Amino acid sequence: MKYENNLAFAKAQDQQDPLKSYRDQFYIPVDNDENELIYFCGNSLGCQPKVVAQYIEQELNDWANLGVEGHFDAENPWMPYHEELAKPMAEIVGAKPHEVVVMNTLTTNLHLMMVSFYNPTKKRHKIVIESDAFPSDKYAVESQIRQRGFNPNDTLILWKPREGEELCRYEDLEAIVKEHGESIALLLIGNTNYYSGQFYPIQKITQLGHANGSKVGFDLAHGVGNIMPNLHKNGPDFAVWCTYKYLNSGPGSLGGCFVHERHHKDEKIQRFTGWWGQNKDTRFNMRKGFDPIPTAEGWQLSNPPILSMAAVKASLAIFAQAGMKNIREKSEKITGYLEFLIDDLNNDRISIITPSDPTQRGCQLSIQVKNADKSLHEQLTNAGVISDWREPDVIRVAPAPLYNSYQDVFEMVERLKNIL
Ligand SMILES: *Cc1c(COP(=O)(O)O)cnc(C)c1O
Repeated sequence: MKYENNLAFAKAQDQQDPLKSYRDQFYIPVDNDENELIYFCGNSLGCQPKVVAQYIEQELNDWANLGVEGHFDAENPWMPYHEELAKPMAEIVGAKPHEVVVMNTLTTNLHLMMVSFYNPTKKRHKIVIESDAFPSDKYAVESQIRQRGFNPNDTLILWKPREGEELCRYEDLEAIVKEHGESIALLLIGNTNYYSGQFYPIQKITQLGHANGSKVGFDLAHGVGNIMPNLHKNGPDFAVWCTYKYLNSGPGSLGGCFVHERHHKDEKIQRFTGWWGQNKDTRFNMRKGFDPIPTAEGWQLSNPPILSMAAVKASLAIFAQAGMKNIREKSEKITGYLEFLIDDLNNDRISIITPSDPTQRGCQLSIQVKNADKSLHEQLTNAGVISDWREPDVIRVAPAPLYNSYQDVFEMVERLKNIL
């Protein structure tokens, strides 16, 4: 696609955008004078869909009017409420509905998955993660390693960018697997990487791990609703994610979890259990032994928070309507436009860390500004651009295809130019 650096071009792109009507379905945050901000933080907290209030109202009313009977008699009965979310969520991550469950929060799900898929032995106990893994993931992994009686110092292997580079290279992961071989129990990769915006090849990494006899899991916090991970076909053992970033389901909302179907009926698999993972026919017959639901639902612990799920449900309805393929298509174009405008600044203080190959990134660009400090981020915020700052010198911006416009992108780069 040929881009132009002018407002008329940006506006024309918005006119032709097949997803243009979706912006109106979201509340875009505003400044003190009620002017819409340029909101590029959908990678951190997505904007609120306007229908969310209605979905939550429904459950509040049913709770008020029906009390406990709402479990069966609510307009959307609470008992099977989470089941309604599996299909639209599975569409988004490219899984079968029975491989996906919405439950808990991301870090909790990561722990639950490690209980099932990290079974360290003296011979095979190592875990490989990216060196720039999200801190929570690193804490979770280290604590699991210690809890199983191993020491993170010789058990946690970091996949690092080379000296002087910002991105991890696949061939370096291959080299790690070759070097540590049978001592690797698990490859756990954050995909898309929260810092660099790099999207790693799921199928290749999965095959690499499996050929080595290791388990493979992905953290899709920055991937879900952004890139298309095709989880079933690509075949990792598990994946976890949250729903408050690109999935716009509200602050601290629930997490999602994928367990590949090949593990569903494995009776030897270790897991932490709770009553919501129990066979539905005998769930209330609480005295018999545990008999897990033979789907991803078998990993559930508790009966779920319906009010939060209502927000997830509202958001998934928008994704189902817009279609992940269309979202991804716009994402590549609008992020390409942002990249074009940044490059066109011709400012040698600025470079983009994120890969320029669209198949290796989602919508986020991580922009490095030499000799900048946090005051640059403050100036951008004062100029009405909501972005995210990472020490020492990186601005992360993510044009979310459902509600960001080409005009947003154009205006943002104009304001950055003025500040610089
Ligand atoms: C956002 C994010 C988290 C946050 O975890 P919560 O348990 O939802 O608080 C964890 N890991 C990654 C990679 C993230 O991007």
